[in-house]
Amino acid sequence: MPRPTAPSRSLLPLIVGLAALVAIVAALGPARGGDDRPPRAPTAAVPAATTPPPADRTTTRADGDAPGLPADRGRDWAVSGADARAARVPILMYHLVADAPAGTAYPDLWVSPSTFRAQVAALRRAGFEAVTMGEVWAAWHGDGRLPRRPVVLSFDDGALNQVMNAAPVLLRAGWPGVLNLTVQNLGDDGLPLWGARRMIRQGWEIGSHTVTHPDLTTLGPDALRDELVRSRRMIRNRLGVDPRFLCYPAGRNDAGVRAAADAAGYHGATTVDAGVAARSDDAFLLPRIRVQPSTGPAELVRLARGA
Ligand SMILES: [Zn+2]
Repeated sequence: MPRPTAPSRSLLPLIVGLAALVAIVAALGPARGGDDRPPRAPTAAVPAATTPPPADRTTTRADGDAPGLPADRGRDWAVSGADARAARVPILMYHLVADAPAGTAYPDLWVSPSTFRAQVAALRRAGFEAVTMGEVWAAWHGDGRLPRRPVVLSFDDGALNQVMNAAPVLLRAGWPGVLNLTVQNLGDDGLPLWGARRMIRQGWEIGSHTVTHPDLTTLGPDALRDELVRSRRMIRNRLGVDPRFLCYPAGRNDAGVRAAADAAGYHGATTVDAGVAARSDDAFLLPRIRVQPSTGPAELVRLARGA
């Protein structure tokens, strides 16, 4: 007949071992899974490293905003290979999308929301489909595809009316925009941080339009480098995306500016020179098509076709 203490003596090493394991787990911190505690609330500041890059359009809903572009965007685009490398792409240049206030100093910078809606509708009817500079670059220099009639819609400087009046129109079309952001405009007096983040979630690409919008040709080497490098870093830190295209303030550039932009790591830069862009252009002298309040929908389609 076995003694009654025998089973507990044989279990003793196991019990001691389990107790030691529990102590080790407790010392290491909270269990990773299996508990029912709610996840920690995200902190207000979004670290750059956890924000999806602009190419990742599968994660679009961070809050109650409308969703962004579909995750399978571009899969069915018809133009690839040599045809994609040879594609000519109109890059439209917008500034403010709002009714110009009476007596404004620069009436040509304002396109009314109704004109903008009519322009986008006309481009769609003509078969155009909007792409980002990154998508153009991938098609010109990699194995990226393009739609049959690609067009880039770029918006300079950064203003509240761009997220309020332009972004919803593009979202309804399923199109991305390109925001050439002057970093000092980011804030409640210009384009609020939430606005820029919303545009990114909706598929917009952010380009650098420098920190303070100076005439880059007038700067010494240190100040020039600062505008090009620091703007890129500030956009990375505040918005979590890395701008790879520069837009020269007022189009002002020279050989020194272009070399500095190249050295700062940009793929290319857009100007205010008129024309339809192609891979054969100097990547740091890409032309654009200026859209003015008087540019009617049919006229814009004609310009985008390179006529
Ligand atoms: Zn500007």
